[in-house]
Amino acid sequence: MKLPIYMDYNATTPVDPRVLDAMLPCFSDHFGNAASRTHPYGWAAAKLAESARARIAAAIGAHPEEIVFTSGATEANNLAIKGFAHTVRDHRGHVVTCATEHKAVLDPCAALDREGFAVTILPVDSDGRLDPQRVAEALTPRTGLASIMLANNETGTLHQVATIAALCRERGVVLHCDATQAAGKVRVDVNALDVDLLSLSAHKLYGPKGVGALYVRRRTPRLHLVPILDGGGHEQGMRSGTLNVPGIVGFACALDIALEAMPAESARLAALRDRLQDSIRSRLEAVTVNGDAEHRLPNTLNLSFAGVDGAALLVGVREAAVASGSACTSADPKPSHVLLAMGRSKALANASLRFSLGRGNTPEDVKTVADAVVREVTRLRTNSPLWRR
Ligand SMILES: *Cc1c(COP(=O)(O)O)cnc(C)c1O
Repeated sequence: MKLPIYMDYNATTPVDPRVLDAMLPCFSDHFGNAASRTHPYGWAAAKLAESARARIAAAIGAHPEEIVFTSGATEANNLAIKGFAHTVRDHRGHVVTCATEHKAVLDPCAALDREGFAVTILPVDSDGRLDPQRVAEALTPRTGLASIMLANNETGTLHQVATIAALCRERGVVLHCDATQAAGKVRVDVNALDVDLLSLSAHKLYGPKGVGALYVRRRTPRLHLVPILDGGGHEQGMRSGTLNVPGIVGFACALDIALEAMPAESARLAALRDRLQDSIRSRLEAVTVNGDAEHRLPNTLNLSFAGVDGAALLVGVREAAVASGSACTSADPKPSHVLLAMGRSKALANASLRFSLGRGNTPEDVKTVADAVVREVTRLRTNSPLWRR
């Protein structure tokens, strides 16, 4: 067994060997610029990129012309939110989003706020769920855009995006959905969800880093976005820059594999995740599950351990590579905005671990990690003035 055991698949995933095999010729034999129209090198690259675009579109129920390639979900979210908001700023300069969104949604919304847009950030319940009624109440005749994620990256909580989409459509509000964490784990279909804009990233589903896509619904008239990058006018003018053909080919291959594996793999991971949860909770008291028990990604488990110091716990559980409920960007750990939005105290948020399982994990991994967590929490609580029972 290789230590530490990787249980941080929501942060990133290793590239599937089949994906790497598909990518390699794009660096050498098929190195052409997909925008070169005058020779076969360009044609070959364009053909590879367009075939990948068609496969990615089909995987989410879209048309190929509705896929705009980006450098990842951060860029896709920025393009969707800023790019659309800027087309409606004069008459619909109000944007609605949710407190538990990824920073790659919240920060573009904050940037719009500084520019003079009105931004409403909706609260969630203690399971991290957004009540669609909250969205209905927040929408006004001046609302142009709402951005609501499908699955939360920290807790795995799933939002009722299709219900929210219906509310938005009734009022002529465009809906963007960050589906980065959902894709490859649960079904993502732009028609079933009825969203207008949807972000994806390859490296969260065993594809390469540095490539993602924005789905842009083609309606009459076509949904228009103000580009962030000006340049050669690639991607129908929405995202200039030479196409990352190796990345795009890898992305399509990774998505195909993920879809094919999904029914069995999601069931396998849910069983492992539940075993991890039960194994820890049956042996420790005062452990809170952060996330919706029923509406949750199959691979994600976020736990808070009352009475322990989160940083010490992370150091102690050296058998596992997991994420914590705080961002350790400074000496002073900043508790997760997601857990705070769910009503957890700063201390409890800091004393949280996120286990996100993936293809490499086995039942033995679960046993090793559960035993290590129980051992460390018990040890820290024994020595802790915070823990009085
Ligand atoms: C990882 C992640 C992002 C950022 O994606 P990148 O491709 O790394 O930029 C955005 N949103 C969610 C929900 C994520 O999990």
